[in-house]
Amino acid sequence: DGGTKRSSSSRVRVAVRLRPYMCKPDEKGEGPCVRGLDSQNLEIINWRNATETVKYHFDVFHGEQTSQQEVFLASVKPILPHILNGQNASVFAYGPTGAGKTHTMLGSSEQPGVIPRAVCEVFKLVKAKDVDEGWDYSIGMSYLEIYNEKVLDLLSPGSQDLPIREDKDKNILIPGLTHMAISSFSDYEKHFIPASLNRTTASTKLNQRSSRSHAILLIKVVRTQRALPHRQQTGKLYLVDLAGSEDNRRTGNQGIRLKESGAINLSLFTLSKVVDSLNAGTAVRVPYRDSKLTRLLQDSLGGSAHSVMITNIAPEYKYYFDTFSALNFAAKSKLI
Ligand code: ADP
Ligand code: MG
Repeated sequence: DGGTKRSSSSRVRVAVRLRPYMCKPDEKGEGPCVRGLDSQNLEIINWRNATETVKYHFDVFHGEQTSQQEVFLASVKPILPHILNGQNASVFAYGPTGAGKTHTMLGSSEQPGVIPRAVCEVFKLVKAKDVDEGWDYSIGMSYLEIYNEKVLDLLSPGSQDLPIREDKDKNILIPGLTHMAISSFSDYEKHFIPASLNRTTASTKLNQRSSRSHAILLIKVVRTQRALPHRQQTGKLYLVDLAGSEDNRRTGNQGIRLKESGAINLSLFTLSKVVDSLNAGTAVRVPYRDSKLTRLLQDSLGGSAHSVMITNIAPEYKYYFDTFSALNFAAKSKLI
């Protein structure tokens, strides 16, 4: 196939989440430069003429009052049943550093984000499966990072750059990547929390590495038919906290920082081209192979996979240009 007509699931759904205005007491308040209009539209002040605004339209707009639960229900929960049926899915948080990507994906213990809610829901869905349907389910996880176009195993600290391969059925594989079987939510926490803490502590030492790398949690659901021939199907769910989308060239980075920026820009730039070509709905070449991130996500982004991009933006003026470019990335061809 790969023909001219794409099913609706090959589209990447685009949601935008605006975080609340956060002004420190010693800062002179200048008000927000972005404002929500309704559940699909927002406006941003026009930098050429501050008395005008530019309006954008998205599949979903989550205003600053939106709870973690609402984001999960609207953008993530509906795609989860598919991974029990051998289909793939991906959810990724895009946007500048400080705009709320980690809050959206991870959250806190008081306000858990998409990742813990999705893992919890997958266990719930598997438990609720009717035994009469004749399948046995098993769940596993991997946790990795793409940093400087290197694929690193976060469940095996000190691991080397891992290769990305494709099998004859066009499934993407990472030989050598740690895969942990998990049979409960607390199993997941046991593996994820230390690895995630490691990553954030390392980040303060390595000059905010966490804002320069893509953190990727993979949840794999394998189901096996109880009767002969014991047919097996695998569904994958990728939950991705992307590197900051800010233009690092503008912030005066040099040397190693600039090299990292190049790598970040390459994978985010390629991601935008991939999302664009998928959403254009024409039979253009989708440039998955141009970066590690898109190559890794190839079987879980587009095609029969279910994908959602949550673009996080911040309302303060200091984010203005990064917000503008994040919105343009998210909107493409949707400018009203
Ligand atoms: P990023 O991961 O994109 O760099 P963070 O998720 O770390 O951004 O968010 C930056 C700050 O804003 C954090 O202190 C976070 O708790 C807060 N924050 C982000 N989004 C929200 C939100 N929707 N509601 C309340 N606080 C938020
Ligand atoms: Mg973050």
